[in-house]
Amino acid sequence: MTFPIEKFEHLRTPFYYYDTQLLDQTLQAIQAELLPNYHVHYAVKACTHPTVLKHIKQAGLGTDCVSGGEIQASIDAGFPADKIVFAGVGKSDWEIELALKHGIFCFNVESIPELEVINQLAGEQGKVARVAFRINPNVGAHTHEYTTTGLSENKFGIAMEHMVDTIQQCQQMPNVECIGLHFHIGSQILEMDDFYTLCLRINELQEELECFGIVLPHINVGGGLGIDYDEPNQHPITDFKAYFATFHRYLQLRKGQQLHFELGRAIVGQCGSLISRVLYVKQGDVKKFAIIDAGMTDLIRPALYGALHQIENLSSHEGEEAYDVVGPICESSDVFAKNYRLPKTKRGDLIALRSAGAYGQIMASQYNCRPLPVGYASEEI
Ligand SMILES: *Cc1c(COP(=O)(O)O)cnc(C)c1O
Repeated sequence: MTFPIEKFEHLRTPFYYYDTQLLDQTLQAIQAELLPNYHVHYAVKACTHPTVLKHIKQAGLGTDCVSGGEIQASIDAGFPADKIVFAGVGKSDWEIELALKHGIFCFNVESIPELEVINQLAGEQGKVARVAFRINPNVGAHTHEYTTTGLSENKFGIAMEHMVDTIQQCQQMPNVECIGLHFHIGSQILEMDDFYTLCLRINELQEELECFGIVLPHINVGGGLGIDYDEPNQHPITDFKAYFATFHRYLQLRKGQQLHFELGRAIVGQCGSLISRVLYVKQGDVKKFAIIDAGMTDLIRPALYGALHQIENLSSHEGEEAYDVVGPICESSDVFAKNYRLPKTKRGDLIALRSAGAYGQIMASQYNCRPLPVGYASEEI
């Protein structure tokens, strides 16, 4: 990926930059692997930049939403309602009503109390809501503890032992129709073994359902495919071939069954960078600090997950030195990298924090009364 540095010069930093050419290439790489019964719903929570959404919509993907606001953002961006799925452990009444009003494809339901509310609210609108049950498969994922979601100890989903019972209760309710099962085991997963384990678990569950004469038309395996944060230039597009092949090989779908995916990070992660300027280079007692004008309010992943984003100095290329690259926020966790080797860095240099397209701009806050960072797509500047 190359940066149009001359175009950056007159823009106020920090800002997000989205390379939509890379985004399009990523979307094409996904499409190349899809079978006719595969459907991808982009997990909107990763990034809602309007131009990014436009490119994803044009590629024919649907969306996966976890709030009413995301449903609205999907509708506003022109995604067809019948490609929208809605997950989340705590759906408010207004969010359910909004989803019903638009007639979204499916609610991914996480508890019986939630099912009862959807049944009641759908009844009030004279509708039947399609639902899939999010089953907690008790499958671990090799990722950060904050981003595993498929273990019994996590708050998400319905325990496997309650699956049949839950579906049977659903069948008794007039305003909900169970059309599938939903899973999501975590995020930033790079071990195909984790998805393989999920496939085996789903196969078992489908067999159990068959014993009770239940066949469901849809299986949704969630998202979670990771990206290479260490080497974004060598691997700008994640290995979709291996990912989809895992499901193709190991997941036993029933006749006519449709398979749904909810990818977020793997679609938008690499196309986004946070662009910042060096404010000061400060010689501390034992180390040198490069203090930049972006902070944890603009990109919280390092502070929240201990994530390391690769850092590029776009202005300087001479020499090399180790810096602690830090932001201006009044928190000691406002550090992007420690002892990070960069070309000799000076005030005014432009810095790119790479692989920041997913869970970057969207998680920004106004702490310290800072303005929210803006985002520019490559065709907009
Ligand atoms: C967050 C989330 C996703 C997307 O996760 P990624 O790691 O970005 O692919 C998919 N499904 C559900 C239910 C989610 O909560």
